[in-house]
Amino acid sequence: MSSDCIFCKIVAGQIPSKKVYEDDLVFAFHDIHPQRPVHILVIPKQHLCSLQEATPAHEAALGRILGIAGKLAAEAGSPGGFRVIINNGEIGCQEVPHLHAHIVGGDQPVGPMLKRQD
Ligand code: 5GP
Ligand code: ZN
Repeated sequence: MSSDCIFCKIVAGQIPSKKVYEDDLVFAFHDIHPQRPVHILVIPKQHLCSLQEATPAHEAALGRILGIAGKLAAEAGSPGGFRVIINNGEIGCQEVPHLHAHIVGGDQPVGPMLKRQD
């Protein structure tokens, strides 16, 4: 655990969250500012800043995040599909430095992947 990391504190129960799933490797909870009707964050329990720092030792947790995404999306109300977003580092516009996959969806298409620049 990283002592000054808000998502480590959520895993530890020191900051409250609306938990939707937990196992030995990952923890999932509702985003505090949902961007779509379904907006869940799935994080590795072990602190990892971003994919920039990922090594083969993180593959089990990273695989679990993707492997559980469809079940979590369907159970949260997005059975027709969803998007997974992982922002990494400054260029990726990551705000919280504990890796998290956003699972966003609902009953309407979530929209274009990125705002077009041309
Ligand atoms: P990022 O921009 O780093 O990819 O996304 C960070 C996400 O974390 C944002 O969508 C933000 O709403 C969410 N978030 C930040 N702090 C908290 C918190 O304390 N609790 C929850 N549930 N979500 C948070
Ligand atoms: Zn952390």
